[in-house]
Amino acid sequence: MTGDRPRLAVHGAGRMGRLVAEHAADFGFDLVGIVSRHHPGDTGEDWAPGLDALATAPSVLIDFTLPAGAAAAARWCAREGIPLVSGTTGLDETQRTALELASHRVPVLHASNFSPGVNLALALLREAGAWLGSTDRITLTEIHHVHKQDAPSGTALAMADALAPHAVDIESRREGEVIGDHRVRFHWPGETLTIDHHAQDRSIFARGALACARWLVGRPHGFYGPGDALRRGLASGPSDTL
Ligand code: NAD
Repeated sequence: MTGDRPRLAVHGAGRMGRLVAEHAADFGFDLVGIVSRHHPGDTGEDWAPGLDALATAPSVLIDFTLPAGAAAAARWCAREGIPLVSGTTGLDETQRTALELASHRVPVLHASNFSPGVNLALALLREAGAWLGSTDRITLTEIHHVHKQDAPSGTALAMADALAPHAVDIESRREGEVIGDHRVRFHWPGETLTIDHHAQDRSIFARGALACARWLVGRPHGFYGPGDALRRGLASGPSDTL
C-alpha cells in the first residue's frame, strides 16, 4: 500500500462487486474492503460485514447491491463524508432521493450502465429525439440473465428517458446468462434504423465504475452522471489518462 493512492471500498460482493474489486488495482486504487452481509468466500481477506466495520476509511465507495443497499450506502457516505459511485438499478423514488440528499454533502455519481458504448448510445438517442415526429414509432428490446431482479432494465429506462417526450414500447426478456443486450429501433414507412448494444463481458461495467470513481475523488459535492468520466475512453485505458 502507498499512502497517496486513493483507497477504494466496494459495497456488495455479487457478480459486479467482485469484478470491481478484481480490477481496482488497474485504476490505481488500494482496495480497503469489500462490504457484504455474507462472507464472499474467495475474496474474504478484504471482507467487512457492514460499512461501519471497515477498518480504513475509503477515499470513495463503489456500490453494486440492491436498491435498499444503495440507499443505505448513500446515507453512510453522507454521514462519513465519502464520495459514492453507485451502479445499482431499480431504485424507487425514496431510494433515489436518498442518493440526491447525500449529494448535498458529498459527490455522488449514479449510472444505470457504466459501459462506454451504452453511454455513447444514450448521447446518440438524445440527438435522435430532436429528429423525430410525434407519430414515429420506437421500440426497445432488452435482454438480461434470469437472475436480474428489476424490469425494465435501468438502461432501458435511461434510453427511453433520452428519447422523451417520444413514446418507446419496451419489451423485457430474461434469458439464460445474457449479460445485457439493448436494441432500439426506429420504424418509418419503408425503413427502419437500429441502435444495438451487446455487452460481451461484464467487466466493462466494473471498469467504467472504476473510471468514474477515479474521476469523482476530489470533486465538490453534487449529483453526477457518468458522461464526463467515460467520454474519453477512460474505462478502456486508465493508466495514462487518469
Ligand atoms: P448480485 O445479486 O450478484 O449481487 C448483489 C450483492 O448485493 C450481493 O452481494 C448481496 O448480498 C448484496 N446486497 C443485497 N442487498 C443488500 C443490502 N441491502 N445491503 C448490502 N448489500 C446488499 O447482483 P449484481 O449482478 O452484482 O448487480 C448488482 C446491481 O448492479 C443490480 O442492481 C444490477 O442491476 C446492477 N448492475 C448495474 C450495472 C451498471 O453498469 N450500472 C451493470 C451490471 C449490474
